Amino acid sequence: MQIKNNLAQIHQQIQQACGQVNRPESAVKLLAVSKTKPVQAIQQAIEAGQRAFGENYVQEGVEKIQHFAERTDLEWHFIGALQSNKTRLVAENFDWLQTLDRLKIAERLNEQRPHDKVPLNVLIQINISDEDSKSGIAPEQMLTLAKQLENLPHLRLRGLMAIPAPTEDVAQQQIALTAMQSLFQQLQNALPAQQIDTLSMGMSDDMNMAIQCGSTMVRIGTAIFGKRDYSAN
Ligand SMILES: *Cc1c(COP(=O)(O)O)cnc(C)c1O
Repeated sequence: MQIKNNLAQIHQQIQQACGQVNRPESAVKLLAVSKTKPVQAIQQAIEAGQRAFGENYVQEGVEKIQHFAERTDLEWHFIGALQSNKTRLVAENFDWLQTLDRLKIAERLNEQRPHDKVPLNVLIQINISDEDSKSGIAPEQMLTLAKQLENLPHLRLRGLMAIPAPTEDVAQQQIALTAMQSLFQQLQNALPAQQIDTLSMGMSDDMNMAIQCGSTMVRIGTAIFGKRDYSAN
């Protein structure tokens, strides 16, 4: 019951945030981040109508995907840091990779994506505010990588993802999220023939501002599934 109630509450928050800026609720997709959570919790979310799930750890994610293999209506997003020795499992099992930040990984995924599957959807991760973080590419490198992906037929670039440095300062949030919005527009303008339709940003603390700044996908874990317990890992 709890997970169902939590989902309903988040949908309401999304609807309100969309209403404030005259966007339809359907413009923003909810990704349920289920990392460390058991399949029973995911099952409850599915029963409440949730279909898109985000996982950070390759092996754990693959086990869950295989557990729910008969449900062809689910969508699995890899949102963790991806090392090159794990690309095959992602290419073979996931529907989306949100953390693409280098050509070498893209080339491996392109080669390893089973050719009878639809292309792997990818988002380029941008390092928007946290200069020390190793995840994501600098904004200036976005277009170069995006153009290189055009030569990889088993990947399909859908947009951008960012994890801005966490802050409760709304003005700070706005700076990073507005910068992402303008990069997203640049990308759309540079690749008009491609379906660049996904801007993945917004977590519990900055969801409202992210939706104001054009986010099309918010990623929420704890507010749906409760706190994570890492002690068993
Ligand atoms: C864990 C995670 C989330 C969700 O975080 P919560 O604080 O549990 O809502 C969102 N995005 C990414 C990339 C994550 O790793």
